[in-house]
Amino acid sequence: ENPKLLLPRIVKDGLFVYVKPDVHDLAKTELLAVSPTAMRDLGLKIDEKDTVEFKEFVVGNRVFEEESYPWAALYGGWQFGDWAGQLGDGRAISVFEGTNPSTEVRYEVQLKGAGRTPFSRFADGRAVLRSSIREFLVSEALNALSIPTTRALALSFFTNEKVLRERIEPRAIVVRMAQSWLRIGSFDIHRLREQRGMLITLADYCIEEVFGGIERIVDEAKKCGYGDTYEGLDRYRILYKEIVRRTAETTALWQVYGFMNGVLNTDNISICGLSMDFGPFSFMDTYDPSFTPNHDDYLLRYCYRNTPTIMWWNLVRLGEDLAELYAVDDPGYLTTDEYLSSGIPESKFGDFVTRAEKIIEDEGEFYKSVFGKHYVAGFCRRLGLTTWKDTDRDEIIDSVLELMKVHKLNFQHFFRRLGRVGIFGNDATSVDGIAAVFLTGQRGIGVPSTEESSMAIYEWLMNSYRARLEQEGSTDDVARKNRINKVNPNFVLRNWILDEVIERVERRGDRKVLDHVLHLALNPFEEEWMAKDNDAEMYNEEQRFIGDVPLEGQGIMCSCSS
Ligand code: AMP
Ligand code: MG
Ligand code: MG
Repeated sequence: ENPKLLLPRIVKDGLFVYVKPDVHDLAKTELLAVSPTAMRDLGLKIDEKDTVEFKEFVVGNRVFEEESYPWAALYGGWQFGDWAGQLGDGRAISVFEGTNPSTEVRYEVQLKGAGRTPFSRFADGRAVLRSSIREFLVSEALNALSIPTTRALALSFFTNEKVLRERIEPRAIVVRMAQSWLRIGSFDIHRLREQRGMLITLADYCIEEVFGGIERIVDEAKKCGYGDTYEGLDRYRILYKEIVRRTAETTALWQVYGFMNGVLNTDNISICGLSMDFGPFSFMDTYDPSFTPNHDDYLLRYCYRNTPTIMWWNLVRLGEDLAELYAVDDPGYLTTDEYLSSGIPESKFGDFVTRAEKIIEDEGEFYKSVFGKHYVAGFCRRLGLTTWKDTDRDEIIDSVLELMKVHKLNFQHFFRRLGRVGIFGNDATSVDGIAAVFLTGQRGIGVPSTEESSMAIYEWLMNSYRARLEQEGSTDDVARKNRINKVNPNFVLRNWILDEVIERVERRGDRKVLDHVLHLALNPFEEEWMAKDNDAEMYNEEQRFIGDVPLEGQGIMCSCSS
């Protein structure tokens, strides 16, 4: 109501600010895509997308004031190692939160690009079509791979409006949803401002509203195989551990599927362990552990190999944010009221620091063990194994990664194609047959010869891989292929495909390609989507998208600006 409220400003005494999305002329927008999976997960029927109410809602014209007034959240962040101060939802506005009664999953629904907020600083609060297409598709692609992620419901486009970035670009709005949009940066800002009350309020909100209470957190951890590791800990320590666990699991899955987020700053790290904030991201093509998808990341801070370490670096920031609280809830140490009125007394300060350091160190061990477990289990599954053990990491996993690195193999194709080779029985693949399976397409420069690579792959298959399969009794090639096809996507949302989709939607007004790629991304494990004689053009497009990566499409990087 008060226009002053929307001026960019430092928000000191709150966790969020009420805001209203801009109102848009429906006739000048087009609903480009809707994710049927996200509709279902939110508890909506797919036909609802054709209603006027839905169309008004996805461009920000319908807010649900009676139930919950829209808001933008405050957060800060450590960016590339430095404290960046206040950031916040500058172009995202949350419109409601609700729990799907049949799945009991809670979602907070947001519009991205619907207008300015007090956190917009000097920017316009709008989103460009290019990055909106990327976010929309990758959210749903990651979810289809069972990698925890924020989700995307709908993508709209403005038919007569442009925004200015490095060039003039079409404008869009993404409707997205997540169990919560809180990030490590949401905590960071209150510690750096020494706002103890805010930290406690936020931590309690997280425990009670987002995670459903301490009891539920502890039960969930038990179900996930962590036994009584959470038992008997203080509530804020449990909160920390829970965020560490979720982050470790997701980070392991990113590594296993070669997913990289090139801007792993604390303002982009979800407290729910979700993949989030999709600027420069990439799935690994040719395996190269020092690849970073971020064009501006010249120090390789966020490259593939550094991801697990940098995620722990981010979690240490969270550990420090919560550090004072570990002491507060401990009976006989300090009551919440004493703490709020005067902080940690000087006489107890040394003791408190030692204690916090110990907690962070212990959680570091926990992070390593959770990460390691999911890393090994995930890679073993991709290899078609039915069992996994700690020694697999140094033996089978390291050996296959080394093979891919030396011979510049495609990280995604390799695993899927592993199902096509015969290891046992009479029709085991011969060394001459290797190239046709693994070494198709252009291989770039500085690559070992086809003969050399064929020999190396053959040796790995018939020695290390075969021995490991025999060890667990997995000597049935067909059964192994079936297992491999269930966890190794045939379709991967590669950057070159995204570039083609963006180009065709933006410049050629093509709408079909977006639906088509969404369909592939939602069903990545299929062998074939379209019958050859049904629609030859679509069939050919599919074959192109699952085939070899064109040489000019390999290792595409993006810059931060969007
Ligand atoms: P990101 O690079 O997406 O992580 O964004 C960093 C910060 O800049 C966040 O606080 C965003 O909300 C803000 N921001 C980025 N682009 C815009 C924009 N076009 N309008 C308003 N705020 C923006
Ligand atoms: Mg961000
Ligand atoms: Mg972003």
